[in-house]
Amino acid sequence: MKPDPRRTWDEELRSRGYRVTPQRQLVLEAIASLNHATPEDIAASVQRTATGVNISTIYRTLDLLDKLGLVTHTHLGHGAPIYHLASDADHVHLVCQDCGTVAQVSPETVRSLCAALEESQDFEVNVAHLAVFGRCGECRRKDRRSEDRRGEKKQDA
Ligand SMILES: [Zn+2]
Ligand SMILES: [Zn+2]
Ligand SMILES: [Zn+2]
Repeated sequence: MKPDPRRTWDEELRSRGYRVTPQRQLVLEAIASLNHATPEDIAASVQRTATGVNISTIYRTLDLLDKLGLVTHTHLGHGAPIYHLASDADHVHLVCQDCGTVAQVSPETVRSLCAALEESQDFEVNVAHLAVFGRCGECRRKDRRSEDRRGEKKQDA
């Protein structure tokens, strides 16, 4: 179920029968300020204010907030998931396998792929959940430059 956008997150928690605890508040604040945070990043940030909060509490809180639709997560590789506030606009993540840079692009960019999958498989794509892997423009340009240099050397010889 999608949260009601007119309600704030604390109203959302209360309306579902959950208490608004300082931990839940700190976790949401950490996600809002960190952008693309792993549970470890979130724990480190929360522990600056609340030293007694351990990582398993963070995981439980993240699971709850995810289930309530207040946060979403994405997988950028084999490591930990990363979290966003659900109120952040959906975006597709492009992860460079060479330098690790994560770029965000609009879901419009993959609209034709999503439409094709829906058409042929009746499959509804959740573009925000998974990342697209490849090589970024910067890394490709670097490669092309070193290829050019090799080409020049050959001509000199
Ligand atoms: Zn993102
Ligand atoms: Zn997942
Ligand atoms: Zn790169």
